[in-house]
Amino acid sequence: MSTLQISGLQVSVDTDQGSKQILRGVDLTINEGEIHAIMGPNGSGKSTLAYAIAGHPKYTVDGGSITLDGEDVLAMSVDERARAGLFLAMQYPVEIPGVTNSNFLRTAKTAIDGEAPPIRGWIKDVRDSMQRLRMDTTFAERNVNEGFSGGEKKRNEILQLELLKPKFAVLDETDSGLDVDALKIVSEGVNRAKAATGLGILLITHYTRILRYITPDFVHVFVAGRVAEEGGPELAERLEDEGYDRFLPDTVVL
Ligand code: ADP
Ligand code: MG
Ligand code: MG
Repeated sequence: MSTLQISGLQVSVDTDQGSKQILRGVDLTINEGEIHAIMGPNGSGKSTLAYAIAGHPKYTVDGGSITLDGEDVLAMSVDERARAGLFLAMQYPVEIPGVTNSNFLRTAKTAIDGEAPPIRGWIKDVRDSMQRLRMDTTFAERNVNEGFSGGEKKRNEILQLELLKPKFAVLDETDSGLDVDALKIVSEGVNRAKAATGLGILLITHYTRILRYITPDFVHVFVAGRVAEEGGPELAERLEDEGYDRFLPDTVVL
């Protein structure tokens, strides 16, 4: 069984004003096939956790560890992390001018698997996946995310997820900006990926809405750079009623 383990993780970010500590000791263990929701107020460090797992150069790990099946993820380059089976769907997916979606997917698939996918099966896989995500076929030949709406970018992230078949996926606010129909389509894609490959999922969200369609096994409330409370799906329901107020200090210094 595959396990992604985060222990005592401390991360700071490089800003124009210097380095600023964001994560203050995060512990999290995700086994394959498990869905962990990370919920928390804005600015609590959720995206920082996602970027640290993915190896974004702006985020410096000051302490703690991340391992994937015992292998030291922090010692891996961004590419090595992808090959090891980690996937990040970003809160703000980047546009890649001059690279078509179809070329990007094939190149990424080839890099991750170490060999090019057989062309016929590949084309069918891409087409089927796009169809399930209700993406028009023209999106294959458009430049990656260029001019895509917010919802189209999120679907495109799930398309990558379905085709690249990682072991663990970090989905950072994949629900933000989606209308109900798109939210259902995206959620179905995530659930399909879990059912097909035993994907382990770190589902970062500010709102409980997506958790009606993707049922988490565990919910972690993230406040000020660490996990403040943990529970099962019932914790998400409580947050829906109560919000994050009781986790926040009386005075918030911005
Ligand atoms: P969340 O995703 O929970 O909203 P973030 O991880 O995006 O939180 O941000 C946590 C804190 O770190 C915020 O105060 C944010 O302003 C700060 N931060 C994150 N990334 C940067 C950056 N690149 N430059 C400056 N500040 C940053
Ligand atoms: Mg935010
Ligand atoms: Mg964020």
